[in-house]
Amino acid sequence: MSGGATFLGMPAFPANAAVAVRDSQLRYNLRKATHTIRGKRAAVVGELPDWAELRRAGKEIRDHTLRNLERYLVRMEEAVTAAGGHVHWAADAKEANRIVADLVKATGETSVVKVKSMATQEIGLNEALELEGITAYETDLAELIVQLGDDWPSHILVPAIHRNRAEIREIFREKMADWGRAAPADLTDDPRALAEAARLHLRERFLSTRVAISGANFMIAETGTLVVLESEGNGRMCLTLPETLISVVGIEKLLPSWQDLEVFLQLLPRSSTGERMNPYTSTWTGAVEGQEFHLVLLDNGRTNVLADEIGRQALRCIRCSACLNVCPVYERAGGHAYGSVYPGPIGAILTPQLRGTASKLDASLPYASTLCGACLDACPVAIDIPEVLVHLRGKVRHARVERLGMRAAGWVFDRPARLARAQRLGGRLRRFVPGRLPGPLSAWTDTRDIPDIPPESFRDWWDRTDGGVQ
Ligand code: SF4
Repeated sequence: MSGGATFLGMPAFPANAAVAVRDSQLRYNLRKATHTIRGKRAAVVGELPDWAELRRAGKEIRDHTLRNLERYLVRMEEAVTAAGGHVHWAADAKEANRIVADLVKATGETSVVKVKSMATQEIGLNEALELEGITAYETDLAELIVQLGDDWPSHILVPAIHRNRAEIREIFREKMADWGRAAPADLTDDPRALAEAARLHLRERFLSTRVAISGANFMIAETGTLVVLESEGNGRMCLTLPETLISVVGIEKLLPSWQDLEVFLQLLPRSSTGERMNPYTSTWTGAVEGQEFHLVLLDNGRTNVLADEIGRQALRCIRCSACLNVCPVYERAGGHAYGSVYPGPIGAILTPQLRGTASKLDASLPYASTLCGACLDACPVAIDIPEVLVHLRGKVRHARVERLGMRAAGWVFDRPARLARAQRLGGRLRRFVPGRLPGPLSAWTDTRDIPDIPPESFRDWWDRTDGGVQ
């Protein structure tokens, strides 16, 4: 039994996409699913005459919260603590995984149920728990399909969007028994039969597991309340049945007050599932009788994103997935090509900021777009994804030039004789050094002078004058 696949070591986006576009079944599944959700979204968004105002309000609330994040985080901590909960701060994935593993071990349990949480996928929590002898059971239907299939999520809202009904039936028939109650032998690919098999399988798990791990769509600083929006009711089971609840939430998920939530309860369901309201909205504040509550506040690169004036708008994201459903690149390449739990346009700007651009895959992500602008039009919090993509491309180029320069410098400095030859050559060619660098490098010399190269190096001067004696 495995905790799931990881994205580590994947090739760059173009190589991944080239494989994906040859898979005609995948392209068909993606096109059908994204176009269906896209149509539903357009219909329910069109019903609201004040959609533009709602969108503006959503953007402003998120920007205000991010500008005052420190203040609201402290308020959140105080409110959760006052309500009997425990707050933990995690600077990175390793620290968050350690905190969660220790909390689970302290209960004496060796299994946990999980309700969909992208933050825990981002930090590889299932794999970290597996190393500690703890099994994490996914309870969201799509996440269950991904976990049973030892697969990767490929969409923010519909992680198994790349699978069709027949494939899901095979996964259930072959793998369900390894994780608990087996699928019926005569299981068909009728959606109701598949849902019933999952329901029976999960119900057993909910009733027998005493620790739950969740994410949250929002946190309300005013009262220390967490909010989860979902469609299946698995979230409600996870949040209420177990004796210990651990929520791992990115620090950017804050809203200042309950009144702000009103805006997002309109923006999110319409933008994500194309519904006026999602079936289940659960809220909880601190501990309740019979249940211990822990909140793990996760940074993992978010404060670095916040420091970038252009890139920080990515933290406004409410993970609705509307940008994925309208993106022509995502529709053809699918989610796996992005090599991250965050695929599509939002992944192309968020992943390289959270993980950096040192790997070929992460450096290629800002280029995984035609810059058509459809993502910006669809985004309910008006994130200018094309602007951030162009900004990140500039940073990737800059980093490449810097890396080339450092490699060349490393080669020269590696041998003293090589350095001496380079210095002599520099002295001879000093007349030809321009005042300004050409082409794309000119930006560097727009605000700096190239220093003069001395006619003689210090080393040659020392040799010639015996250290200044002659
Ligand atoms: S970037 Fe905007 S459209 Fe895309 S998932 Fe985030 S909130 Fe939704």
